[in-house]
Amino acid sequence: MRITKVCPDGDLDQFGGRAMIVKTDRGTFKTPHRVLTSQEFQYKANLPFEPPLNNEISEVVAQFNRTNWGKFMNTNGSFNRRLGTIEFFSDKMAYTIKRFYPQLPSDVMLDDTAIKQLLELQRMSDLDFIAIPNLPSGIRDFDKIVTSFAEEVLSERREPLIYLDMGLEPPVFRERFMTLLSHSDIDTDHIHTVGLIYRPIRKNILNYRLLWENRESSVFFQMSYIPREFTRTTAASTMHLLQKWGIDSFSVRAGNYVPSKPLENDGREPLPKSEVLRRTKRFDPEPLAFRQFHTWVDRGDMLNCSCPVCKDKTVDDFISTYSSEAESYPCQIFNAANRLHEYYCSSDEFKTSRDYIRTGELSEYFKTREGLRKSDLPVQLSLDTWTG
Ligand SMILES: [Zn+2]
Repeated sequence: MRITKVCPDGDLDQFGGRAMIVKTDRGTFKTPHRVLTSQEFQYKANLPFEPPLNNEISEVVAQFNRTNWGKFMNTNGSFNRRLGTIEFFSDKMAYTIKRFYPQLPSDVMLDDTAIKQLLELQRMSDLDFIAIPNLPSGIRDFDKIVTSFAEEVLSERREPLIYLDMGLEPPVFRERFMTLLSHSDIDTDHIHTVGLIYRPIRKNILNYRLLWENRESSVFFQMSYIPREFTRTTAASTMHLLQKWGIDSFSVRAGNYVPSKPLENDGREPLPKSEVLRRTKRFDPEPLAFRQFHTWVDRGDMLNCSCPVCKDKTVDDFISTYSSEAESYPCQIFNAANRLHEYYCSSDEFKTSRDYIRTGELSEYFKTREGLRKSDLPVQLSLDTWTG
């Protein structure tokens, strides 16, 4: 796959947000949009029926903890299995444009050998993007590394995707980001997209501001590793909030919402079903925030959602439809359905916000969605804006 054109659709305004048209030799898509992850795709297989998942870009997420990262680097079998997983998903999601994201523990340092192995893993599959992970801060010749990487990937008729960590020190982030943008002329250069790894906005405001300042660039910005909830107290949907900064595509961090699998519960017994239900939150598309599943009962029995997993269901219907004695851990199917509900509603919502962006009304949109309004961080405007 090759990206052939990236262009804005409509004017930009001071508030932020952008609607783009991305053309590839495999078709055209519009942003902002939500990317389907392999974990979300897998949820479909848990349901008693298989609802269609229409999406244009997918992300195969590989979750690593310290132990299996060690195995990946030191045994042939682990590499082989990881490759098998990528092949499995890229076959299932063959109708999409596919990228890969390794979700690593924060203390794993990627050296040249690790980077080489991650690149080989992607090359041996039929992914459309070949992603280079965030390079260590101290690295020299960033420009040279990324341009020769991009050239090589393009020669294989794939699209290079260079990741930057939003938590990089602001001078490093700025230097790398501006370097990538300087190689982005669609006719003569090799870089048409930049990958971004989510880190909290309030701790990395300068890096987010740099994105905002460069939102007129004709480069496709894809962000991975986004937590569902912005913070525990204001449970706004993080990815909807992020569109203000001029990011074009969003994929959610892998991992279960409530640690119901034994492995995610520090190896302890899985939580009982009643406890998982009590802790689970459900995406509410009206405020664009998450609230406790049981609070739906307080507003009447109906879920009032027309997505394929909720359509015409009451709260009780939802619980009984999505439960089975044959589950491998409590609430496995319920969790899958709850997450797919979020995927469907959130994907549709980006189509709505796109219309607001195109007419310069994203700030109005943010005011009407309670979760966004409460969590929005203002961009510090230049003095000119106030005075002139
Ligand atoms: Zn729904």
